[in-house]
Amino acid sequence: MSYVDLHDWDRCTRCGSCLAGCPVMLMDRAEAREEIAGLIAGDLSGRAAAECTLCYSCNRLCPVPGLEPCDLLQQRVLERRGDIPAHIRYFFNDGGEGSVWGDVHRRMSDSQRRILDSWAEPPPPSPEVLWVGCLARSTSPTDVANSRVLADLPKFGPYELCCGEPQYRLGGWEAFMTVARRTFETLSRLRTDRLVCYCHACSYFLGNVYPKVFGKPLPFEVISMYEWLWERLQAGELGLEHPLTYDAAVCESCNLTEMNPSLAHKLRDLYAAAGVRLHEIEHRGIENETCGFAVMGKGQTLPASMNMVLSEQRKKYRDVRHSGTRTMALNCGGCRITFGFTNRFFGMRLRHMPEELLRAFGDTITEPMSAAFARFMRMFARRVPGFLLSSRSVRHRS
Ligand code: SF4
Ligand code: SF4
Repeated sequence: MSYVDLHDWDRCTRCGSCLAGCPVMLMDRAEAREEIAGLIAGDLSGRAAAECTLCYSCNRLCPVPGLEPCDLLQQRVLERRGDIPAHIRYFFNDGGEGSVWGDVHRRMSDSQRRILDSWAEPPPPSPEVLWVGCLARSTSPTDVANSRVLADLPKFGPYELCCGEPQYRLGGWEAFMTVARRTFETLSRLRTDRLVCYCHACSYFLGNVYPKVFGKPLPFEVISMYEWLWERLQAGELGLEHPLTYDAAVCESCNLTEMNPSLAHKLRDLYAAAGVRLHEIEHRGIENETCGFAVMGKGQTLPASMNMVLSEQRKKYRDVRHSGTRTMALNCGGCRITFGFTNRFFGMRLRHMPEELLRAFGDTITEPMSAAFARFMRMFARRVPGFLLSSRSVRHRS
């Protein structure tokens, strides 16, 4: 089983709406029809397999309920790339030590490790539980543990579990299934009515991807922390303690585009309620351009991946500049990390909204994402010689 097996492609009418509406390739209808037929037949030689940035927009363009052309693209892109290169595998959280997550874990303080240990066991039955995924576990465990805003939510997030987003988006199907099965089975035993996900990607994967992969949803509602904060704000249970008094362009993640459009409105309402003066970029919603994270997975070598990321990010930075600001409000941790490689070269400031919103509603931030990212960059830099060596052997083989 792999991405392509998640859907019955006999249901595809070959109408071409997905690729004809693709904001990246801008195909005419005839070419789009021909390309989709080729992709379904397993042809890797067309434009789509080469140029797709895995942005998810086509999923919303398909008129057949439940059919997701991006999974077909994901499969063909993966086949075109071949084996998973070392610099891509580094982002996979398999609970082991050879990944960025393992590198972060090894360098944690004793007090941070104690916090992680306290989240390893399922909490007692509770109406709501906070799911602390890899990102929050690795960057800001102390702040999540001490959060006043999140104080009512019992926390859960064992180190060896992960929603599997990096594996899935970077074309590591088997690695995804290994960790996702473990996560699905453990979470299925959790006794709660609602799982609140700190990380937006976790809410997308646990709530949207797992049901199609495992044939059934988790036995409770899954929501993002943004929705939870919005509900609390509406109920008058949250007050604005430290207003965010800056301008920022809303930069939506792929999974936000893919989810219910009302969530994108709610997110903006929440930012605005926290004080941010919002700027809109030209390419958003169904025309959203990516941070480059998923497209990085297409590269067989580190330089190839970095070129692809840069070419995606240039478009986004241009869009942000045209919106009249140089500050980007990012709802996704993956976007924060990926833009963090280049933002300074383009004079852009990044705001990671989970952290910003918790600060606005009363939390003290002691483990800012920017510091975590600097550590992450150092760890990545140490691995670069190994990645380049492995890239040379890939080039040699091909
Ligand atoms: S995922 Fe994005 S780039 Fe790829 S075909 Fe779909 S709309 Fe186009
Ligand atoms: S995947 Fe959907 S939009 Fe694309 S050709 Fe098939 S039916 Fe049409």
